[in-house]
Amino acid sequence: MPDFSKMTLEELLKPEGFDCACGRRHQAGLRRAHIGKGALGVLLEYLHALGITRPFVFCDENTYVAAGAKVVKIFEASEMPHTLYTLPTGHPEPDEMACGGLLMAFDPKCDGVVAVGSGVINDSGKVLAHALRLPLMCVATAPSMDGYASDSSSMVREGVKVSLYNACPQALIADTDILAGAPLRLLQAGLGDMLAKYCSVCEWRLANLVIGEYYCGDIAALMREALRRVRQAAPRLLERDAEAVEEITQGLVLAGIAMAFAGVSRPASGLEHYFSHIWEMMALARGLDVELHGIQVGIGTLLTLKIWEKLKLEAPSRETARAFIDSFDEAAWEAMVRRVFGQAAETILKTARAEGRNDKATHATRLQISLEKWPDILKIVEEELPPYQDMLGLMDSLQMPLKPEDIGFSRQDTVDALLGAREIRDKYLTSSLLWDLGLLYTSAPEWL
Ligand SMILES: [Zn+2]
Ligand SMILES: [Zn+2]
Repeated sequence: MPDFSKMTLEELLKPEGFDCACGRRHQAGLRRAHIGKGALGVLLEYLHALGITRPFVFCDENTYVAAGAKVVKIFEASEMPHTLYTLPTGHPEPDEMACGGLLMAFDPKCDGVVAVGSGVINDSGKVLAHALRLPLMCVATAPSMDGYASDSSSMVREGVKVSLYNACPQALIADTDILAGAPLRLLQAGLGDMLAKYCSVCEWRLANLVIGEYYCGDIAALMREALRRVRQAAPRLLERDAEAVEEITQGLVLAGIAMAFAGVSRPASGLEHYFSHIWEMMALARGLDVELHGIQVGIGTLLTLKIWEKLKLEAPSRETARAFIDSFDEAAWEAMVRRVFGQAAETILKTARAEGRNDKATHATRLQISLEKWPDILKIVEEELPPYQDMLGLMDSLQMPLKPEDIGFSRQDTVDALLGAREIRDKYLTSSLLWDLGLLYTSAPEWL
């Protein structure tokens, strides 16, 4: 079994995939990726490989300046017919308007889609290419999120944040000459989305230990190696050091591959992402601008590390957990869900009830395992999580926002995000463990 953490990107993208020791076959959706200086030079070669003879190129006004103009110039120089569409400004959300606009502008003579941009552009491109059953290539303009190699797109539908499992780009070009010029906030966001992986890999192992969820050690090792390299490069991000930008881009692409390999988001998303999901829903409900995903996730990472620094000093007690579950007040829980989720609460409550979120028998089983395996839980946390102060220092030195208040969320919003995280869907999180131990509603909010 080859070691994923020592493989090159090209080797990882092997179309036939890998039969893994975990019993599954791991395969990436991405077929080709070129990350590095002058990567745009492979544009035509990649188009040929995808069988695209007439690309539909789309960007927004900023990404046109960053890379779109260069792409178009290459097409013009080679006399490749193409159609260019620039998304109007004022639509920063990947929603029905953005996708509808794309579809209306689409030229049916085109046989492939080239998305020039990062988050919103990449996500909308996946939806468009999937709906049209056309190959998709992404020309990255910022290393701001880990979606380049993943098959899910983060969209807004009827004002609600949803993940759609759409087509993955088949090819990615990430030219560091372009990426290093991205706005600082986007570079910081990419680092935030990467640092989150300390927490997600840790939580993935915990979910495997406590509830027996599927886990692959080889994919986790791939993420750890990516993190090690990103952590080393991170201090040079502020200087826009090309090598540091390349490492972070590489890390984000590997995170997407890790998710595709695992078939779930576990290697790249845990409680730290749920802080972000709930804040984002709050911002949408309040009609406020949504902060960049990676910026929110970076703050969520600090909060999660902080929780663990306190939790590992606790001696979990069967009595506390029993007293909590015996006096569990379903009506108070419902009221909490309504307060945190507002309009979305009914759907969440319905699913939570159907999934037996507060079932006492399954609580007893998980509690038993958590108490018995507490030393193993602590060992995993010790192995996976960096010290809170180290991460805080690193993010501070890179001028990243550090507190929810820095991005417009109150202390109560953050407490609500922690309480609500386990209600969004049936995913075992650090906050699920806190609930099982009877600490979520009492001690944990004080640890934030
Ligand atoms: Zn595996
Ligand atoms: Zn993320």
